[in-house]
Amino acid sequence: MASLNLAEGLTEAGLSFTRLPHPAPTPVAARDAILAAPGFGTAFSDHMVCIEYSEAEGWHGATLGARGPIALDPAAAVLHYAQEIFEGMKAYTHPDGSIALFRPEANAARFNASARRLAMPEMPETLFVEAVKQLVTADRDWLPPVEGGSLYLRPFMIATEAFLGVRPAKAYKFLVIASPAGNYFKSGAPAVSIWVSAYSRAAPGGTGAAKCGGNYAASLMPQAEAIARGHDQVVFLDAAEHRWIEELGGMNLYFVFADGTLTTPPLSGTILPGITRDSLLTLAREEGLTVREERYAIDQWQADAASGKLVETFACGTAAVVTAVGRVCGTGPGASDEFTIGSGGPGQITTRLKARLVAIQRGQAADTHGWVTRVT
Ligand SMILES: *Cc1c(COP(=O)(O)O)cnc(C)c1O
Repeated sequence: MASLNLAEGLTEAGLSFTRLPHPAPTPVAARDAILAAPGFGTAFSDHMVCIEYSEAEGWHGATLGARGPIALDPAAAVLHYAQEIFEGMKAYTHPDGSIALFRPEANAARFNASARRLAMPEMPETLFVEAVKQLVTADRDWLPPVEGGSLYLRPFMIATEAFLGVRPAKAYKFLVIASPAGNYFKSGAPAVSIWVSAYSRAAPGGTGAAKCGGNYAASLMPQAEAIARGHDQVVFLDAAEHRWIEELGGMNLYFVFADGTLTTPPLSGTILPGITRDSLLTLAREEGLTVREERYAIDQWQADAASGKLVETFACGTAAVVTAVGRVCGTGPGASDEFTIGSGGPGQITTRLKARLVAIQRGQAADTHGWVTRVT
């Protein structure tokens, strides 16, 4: 088959990307209809990146081609023992028309940390970033021109070896797909309501700090329970004492106090080290706020919300950026206690920090931290 090596495709890892022709890209009218109301995670761009790994060859066979089904042996290890990790990141259109990524090298580093925990091969960070750039460049027409729009990128790795014995697989596939994104929360709600789960997401020594599909599989039933009870999201407490607040199913938490200080749960190994969380640590300190990485108990949260000592709580992550938490339910043994935070809507500091971060991501404010990487 005719293929061409992209001129810029040679990475520091020594891999070149083979461009496979797309037989039938989405017609422009159909694409425009999708981009006018992209939703989240339901529509996909035309292309995908695929890179193979074997023990003998290492990373090889990098392609950029048409997005489509992948062939897997029914005995592929990922289907049985869940050897899978992923990342979530976004490409944004800047005011000058260029397209940029936000801290992609942080995603690459976290991907390798997840790989180590799941006994999967690490990937050169330059190769990870190059793969993402290749896809964004090919699908640059898939960035939604709507307010708050972005191209959500999903790099992931699966164990492909056909083998039912229990040990780390010897063959893997790395892929990157892309999905045009609008607002993460369907309601576009200014503040979400969260349900305190009796289930645990992660235990000490477990995989809570790795971005792996297995963590999400375990969180789906608690999340469904939250929805069934009329809430938007679930919040997990620590597995040992069921007292310390950890995080939501896919977002980290910050607590804002009336004295202008903030806390966020520490990276103790059971929460996911969010890049949004890390960026907000820096931005909040620049704003002159005192931020502590400190454990915070559920009963204290409720007491502080009632006394007015705690004025805001927000969740943060790439998909929804910053989202105010307005209401919390299910704190007592009977799981019926409920409390409101501040006014129940987004508070001042939540709004200010969100605006600062979004402005940097979208190229509307100076990038003084070297967080922004231009793609095209
Ligand atoms: C991805 C993720 C986050 C947020 O991480 P970001 O890098 O900020 O997107 C938080 N918690 C969990 C469980 C996650 O999977």
